[in-house]
Amino acid sequence: MNKCFFDFLISHAKIYGFIFPSSEIYGGLNAIYDYGPHGVELKNNIKDFWWKSMTQLYENIVGVDSSILMHSDVWHASGHVDKFNEFLIDHKDSKKRYRPEILIQEYVEKNYFNDPKKKEKTLSRLYRSLEKKDLTDIKILIDELCISDPVFKTKNWTKIRHFNMMFKIENEKNLYLRPETAQGIFTNFHNIIKSNRMKIPFGIAQIGKSFRNEIIARRFLFRMREFEQMEMQFFILPEEEIKWYEYWKKNRLKWHLELNIEYKKYYKLCKHDHLAHYANAGSDIKFNFPFGFQEIEGIHSRRDFDLKNHEFFSKKKLRVFELKKNYIPYVIETSLGLDRLFLVLFYSSLKKEKLKNGTIRIVLKLPYYLSPIKAAIFPLVKKDGLPEIAKKIFNDVKIHHKLVYDEKESIGKLYRRQDAIGTPFCFTVDYDTIKTDTVTMRNRDSLDQKRIHIKEISKIIEKETGLKKVLKKLSYFI
Ligand code: ATP
Repeated sequence: MNKCFFDFLISHAKIYGFIFPSSEIYGGLNAIYDYGPHGVELKNNIKDFWWKSMTQLYENIVGVDSSILMHSDVWHASGHVDKFNEFLIDHKDSKKRYRPEILIQEYVEKNYFNDPKKKEKTLSRLYRSLEKKDLTDIKILIDELCISDPVFKTKNWTKIRHFNMMFKIENEKNLYLRPETAQGIFTNFHNIIKSNRMKIPFGIAQIGKSFRNEIIARRFLFRMREFEQMEMQFFILPEEEIKWYEYWKKNRLKWHLELNIEYKKYYKLCKHDHLAHYANAGSDIKFNFPFGFQEIEGIHSRRDFDLKNHEFFSKKKLRVFELKKNYIPYVIETSLGLDRLFLVLFYSSLKKEKLKNGTIRIVLKLPYYLSPIKAAIFPLVKKDGLPEIAKKIFNDVKIHHKLVYDEKESIGKLYRRQDAIGTPFCFTVDYDTIKTDTVTMRNRDSLDQKRIHIKEISKIIEKETGLKKVLKKLSYFI
């Protein structure tokens, strides 16, 4: 059922201009996607919400937009050249490549779902071996569980090997596409302190593209090779590590809960199963996808790992002198995948609803402040001067809000189309408009219709679909 719904979601995203496979006319490219006209609006609204929540509500968090290409020493200092590895196993018959831990996790989810003890025991062994990088034991586990290739159903596996996930640029010695945005924050640490007179504790936020040569890049937007991250590095006194780690875990979860996602399908804060090479502690905010609870955002304590290594490699001091102390600050990181969050929002908002008259409608119940289009303006019929009035309303209000004007189909079909892309309000100009300067306002969720004066349209859209309400609520938690 869920898998079927996921296929429906992928097709809905394409038909309504949210997500297209990249280079589709040439047969597409594995795990790379393009955002269509409605997709880019939704994505920009998510970014805007995150950016304002971080850099506008917090007076001690500033932004940066660093380059994707960086000096090659950055990736030596950050540990990515030596340690940003995944394990991989090949299947000799299918010639397919897998991540062994994911093969095991999927096997356990599928076969031990009603035997929690067995599940726990197997996963603990897996995580112990991952921690110790004991490739032999992971291979033994695959053999003991008799895991076979999902397509060929045979067990003809190779040994497990390491595989670096960074994309190296050919003909450019040692240049890489960045695998995380965080390093552009660390390398600008001193520039930002000096230019913006920052004092500990303070944060630097960034939204940008990252690239990872994922071995199993699949599951639509969940695991891509080119994706976007929204990251914030918060610089603190080392002795305040726990305090800020707990603070950011709590605050990031609160932010997610403002997205109106069904709580039970929703996030848990879990200790990260397998810590990244830079992290001292890590927690994930997870979502229950059709393929199980999966990470959307990580909150990590990176300690002084990055700044210390950049000091060593660059021979430049990356310290602060405050409170009569000269020290390298610790860092708490919040790292959210924009495309993964897009997928979560799309998945949890897309509904098939049975209406009172027995028909089914497809509706995208996004929070109003994230909807790609805030309102649609229609004339009831394409004659008697109604299109002209509707067009005038559109032209007056479009300066303030993202709207559409549509007259291409019957009113019922126009409503259905706006439901399918998540537009909160539709305003229809009819014959009464000529006499009373009022229009019918229809709400996406309640389907209620009421008459309002033309002058009220812009104010209603502003009040109901703007970020003000949600930002105000979040500001209480700071
Ligand atoms: P995973 O274990 O799922 O590979 P990760 O622990 O490697 O994720 P981080 O390095 O902590 O992920 O990156 C922070 C966030 O970036 C993740 O929570 C996720 O939302 C996003 N992200 C990471 N890799 C990808 C990817 N290949 N495609 C889309 N988003 C990703």
